[in-house]
Amino acid sequence: MSRVYNFSPGPSMLPMPVLERVRDELFDWEGTGCSVMEVSHRGKPFVDLACKAEAQLRALVGIPDDYRVLFLAGGAQTQFAAVPMNLAGNGELVSYVNTGSWSTKAIEEARKHCPVHVVASSEAEGFSCIPLREAWDVRDDAAYLHYTPNETIGGVEFHWVPDVGDVPLVADLSSTILSRPIDVSRHGLIYAGAQKNAGIAGVTIVIVHDSLLGRADARTPTTLHYGAQVKQDSMANTPATFAWYVMALVLEWISEQGGVAAMAKRNAAQAQRLYSYIDASTFYTNPVRGSDRSLMNVTFVLPTSELDQPFLAAAQDAGLSGLKGHRSVGGMRASIYNAMPDEGIDRLLEIMEAFENANS
Ligand code: PMP
Repeated sequence: MSRVYNFSPGPSMLPMPVLERVRDELFDWEGTGCSVMEVSHRGKPFVDLACKAEAQLRALVGIPDDYRVLFLAGGAQTQFAAVPMNLAGNGELVSYVNTGSWSTKAIEEARKHCPVHVVASSEAEGFSCIPLREAWDVRDDAAYLHYTPNETIGGVEFHWVPDVGDVPLVADLSSTILSRPIDVSRHGLIYAGAQKNAGIAGVTIVIVHDSLLGRADARTPTTLHYGAQVKQDSMANTPATFAWYVMALVLEWISEQGGVAAMAKRNAAQAQRLYSYIDASTFYTNPVRGSDRSLMNVTFVLPTSELDQPFLAAAQDAGLSGLKGHRSVGGMRASIYNAMPDEGIDRLLEIMEAFENANS
């Protein structure tokens, strides 16, 4: 067997013990004589798994009792539509901070449902920083204010939770949930696709405060309607059972590793090693403002784009995959989610150094 260190932005690397458990349980899950993919989502074994996953997520993230937890389908981009449909059901004004590709997409989707006010944008800076809070034009009459704590493509991250007064704060935590502690109580709603830090594609975590239920547009499809899904324990339709199961295993693995605090410590150390190397080098550069650099997606560019393909080929030869930056920004991106072992960083640094020496 030959496994690479996979730096993909998502779907991304899974912890080896999780893959091993999936393999071991594939033909006979929990003594059912079936795989988890073949049992009813309404049967006791699966319902028990669902309850356990919610309890584990609540414990890991520290979700207060007055929040509901949903596990929905459709990925984070479906939430780009579900959020305005559920929270601004009467077409109220909604606010967004634009920090890059994902917030831009969220804004475009919201515009289909209601008027959007962009409170701040770093577009003029090439999305290389988080706009300073003092410069935001926050409107008190907005139904919510949406931000993207980590821009997976640009590698820009909020290292603070914005204070927006009484306006409910909505966060797309797709690429940072479970990677570091987050104060849920400062938010009205949090959503995140699972395929980076929490499992595989197919399940999306939604954490919503009780006070925000009951604001939905009546035309919201039942499967996207938070209130309806709360009533039916996220099973208004047949859920993505396998994705849910893998997420439950990943949550268990995070707990065994020491929880989110332990993840955060390791993630920060790994990112620090990469940024320190990049900053000390005259060959690689990272375009993001120092205070706003992502701990999950470390981007770097080589002196010329002609070196991109040779770099990627050298990395692949050394057992490193998924380093190509997003097509919209180019360069390289090392996505170092929870499952990335320290050895992956060691190997990446070795390759970066060898390539720099050979090409400068
Ligand atoms: N938001 C962020 C921050 C993301 O990183 C991604 C996926 N990379 C998405 C939204 C979209 O997720 P999905 O493809 O699951 O809809």
